[in-house]
Amino acid sequence: MVGDILKKIRKRKKRRLRLKTKVKRFLIYFIFFLSLFIYTIKESITIYKDFKYQETYEYKLIQLGYSKKESTTIINILPEDTINKILTEEEKNLHYYNIITQKYFLQKNFQSYVDYKTYHEKTSYEDVIAIVNVNAHHGWYNKIYQTNINDDFLMIVNKFYQLESSYERNDLQSINLAYAYANNSASTIVIENFKNMKTDIETELGIHLMVNSSYRSYNDQALIYNDFKNISLKYADSYAARPGHSEHQTGLAIDITSLEHPYINDSETSFDKSPEYEWLKNNCHKYGFILRYPKGKEHITGYNTESWHFRYVGIETATKIFQENITFDEYHAYYIAK
Ligand SMILES: [Zn+2]
Repeated sequence: MVGDILKKIRKRKKRRLRLKTKVKRFLIYFIFFLSLFIYTIKESITIYKDFKYQETYEYKLIQLGYSKKESTTIINILPEDTINKILTEEEKNLHYYNIITQKYFLQKNFQSYVDYKTYHEKTSYEDVIAIVNVNAHHGWYNKIYQTNINDDFLMIVNKFYQLESSYERNDLQSINLAYAYANNSASTIVIENFKNMKTDIETELGIHLMVNSSYRSYNDQALIYNDFKNISLKYADSYAARPGHSEHQTGLAIDITSLEHPYINDSETSFDKSPEYEWLKNNCHKYGFILRYPKGKEHITGYNTESWHFRYVGIETATKIFQENITFDEYHAYYIAK
């Protein structure tokens, strides 16, 4: 009896053991196949992703030699048709990234920047952007637009933007002889601000500013320009604006000297060596004026530097131009005309 019972127990144990082994085996197989399944799925996703990635602009640009950072920047800044054009090229163009990361980059000028830089390797990227933005790459007076007079005191007049011969500001006022030489007139807003500036510089430096020259009609400018032109065209274009292209016709520009330094020419007492010129350079923006033709910017303004020529653009714009150390031409191209 006891033996039978023991046998039964052993048998049951064996059966249980077999069952356990079967379950274990099943679990091992299950886990194995499950892992295999997950692995296969994961691999397929990776392959699919790689396949998809190869279709992206980033992948294609990297294949051309651009870094990941450069590719991302190109994708973020340039329009699709330009990127597609870049992708037809045989190799990386070293200029693209440097051009598109410039502060005053304008998308519409991309190709002109590239062309200009290609032919003027030595010109800095900063200058390439400025030259193209202000149209100087066309050559002075080679491309002429009409000035938008609705821009009011932000209107641009330079070697590419001209005023109609009949244009005359309607708030012109003659300037009092206490602070201007005879026959000077300018916009009332210019006179107001000049007066304040004059008072402040007198208090600070004891210097007496004078308006040397201001509003000039189209015909007045024609007379001046033609006089210079009798010497040579090159000379005339370096020192005077062609009629319609003079800022003096806007009524917003004034030539400033002082009783202490009345000469604008290059001599010991010339205006550019005077303390009032230094003061004006650093403070005129507080009164809405800018030094219009600064030194070192001749290739952007098209004029030899003029330490005496100041232009009214309003305090906000004047301050921005002063802080960013740009010319009004660059400001106009980037902030107004774009
Ligand atoms: Zn002037």
